Amino acid sequence: MSSKRALLLTTPNSYRTQDYVDAAARLGIEAVVAVDLPRTLAEEWNFPLGADFGRPVQASEQLIDALADSGGEENRYDAVLALDDSGSRVAALVAQKLGLPHNDPMAAEAARNKFRMRTMLAACGAPVPAFAEFRTGDNLKEIIARAEEAIGYPCVVKPEELNGSRGVIRANLRCELGAAVRRLTALIGDKQPFLIEGYIPGVEIALEGLLDRDRLHCLALFDKPDPLEGPYFEETIYVTPSRLHLETQNRIVETTEAAARGLGLQTGPIHAELRINDDGPWIVEVAGRSIGGLCSRILRFGMEVGNGSSLEDLILRQACGLPLESLERESQAGGVMMIPIPEAGILRRVNGVEEARRVAGIEDVQITARLDQSIVPLPEGDAYLGFIFAKGPSPAQVEESLRNAHGSLRFEVDPEFALAQ
Ligand code: ADP
Repeated sequence: MSSKRALLLTTPNSYRTQDYVDAAARLGIEAVVAVDLPRTLAEEWNFPLGADFGRPVQASEQLIDALADSGGEENRYDAVLALDDSGSRVAALVAQKLGLPHNDPMAAEAARNKFRMRTMLAACGAPVPAFAEFRTGDNLKEIIARAEEAIGYPCVVKPEELNGSRGVIRANLRCELGAAVRRLTALIGDKQPFLIEGYIPGVEIALEGLLDRDRLHCLALFDKPDPLEGPYFEETIYVTPSRLHLETQNRIVETTEAAARGLGLQTGPIHAELRINDDGPWIVEVAGRSIGGLCSRILRFGMEVGNGSSLEDLILRQACGLPLESLERESQAGGVMMIPIPEAGILRRVNGVEEARRVAGIEDVQITARLDQSIVPLPEGDAYLGFIFAKGPSPAQVEESLRNAHGSLRFEVDPEFALAQ
């Protein structure tokens, strides 16, 4: 046993919690989970600690008090980790109070608010498109006139505080911009701030990394082989290693490292999305957290040491000050497909899962959407149907396995109105 103790901040339905709790158990780290729920509700859900992460200062004070109550040994914590963006500011504040390594709490704010992120990135000279802030419900003609002057077409309309590409809409023309703003208003309501920014052409990649004393170790660079050209931006396939030129990959890492530093990120996991075109890499976003959903399950590191480590193993080890054996990803290629929502309606059945699992190269297929529930595509929806995982000798083969497995799945979706009949 390592006799280390980590506080994990998460949300009640996070996909990420179990993988971290399992990793902590493997490493002999005692994991205490605090959830984004009022304390009494957290107890009902069987979480040891709870606080409203939406009010980060109060939440951090409540958690510090609760840790002190549970034995007066709050300083015994070796790490405080937010498993996704919702708890990152609270994690930074609690870690600061406990004297543990932490990110600048403002970096967590930037990860939660796209306008703040763009402002901070622009201020540190990171490559970002032109952007401006607007408010839903303001005169549409004026919004369009200002956006045309400051940004031009094509542009992207996006809410400041949603994630998973919700409400992100590309507009190529004035009429599309008007329609996009109306659609976003219906989603987020009146008098809400939102962004319009220049559309960045090019291919998109995701970088998974670990910041250690200001240095970024790139753990995996994922290509996204499906074109993400809008009008909505549904994530599908991620494949690593990247097929981009090595020099381009190095520039991506350098650009991300500089942007992370500019945001005040100093330690722990980094997840970044970038687009690359003839002008080089451009930052879409950089956050102090690891990859979302179940995607991390495709990553394995340090295979020369037995079965290797998961991404969560590495993150917990680093956070608790345990030695990191290897940050080298295994040599075979890996990929994951976030299964897109085929149409709006009630998901009745998913057929062909066993067939998909038997496709060469497929490691697993997990359907995470619940049957007999509504499924909503982007730009309004907020979930995938599930995940397909593949490994293989090359990125191209992994991509093919994922496409073949997805091709075996058949979704039975009833129209919503069937419920009322
Ligand atoms: P979220 O945090 O909701 O995922 P992002 O700002 O990361 O929102 O945008 C989601 C996706 O939309 C990105 O991964 C990218 O494919 C696309 N996107 C966002 N902004 C731009 C942009 N300025 N130019 C081109 N594509 C963009």
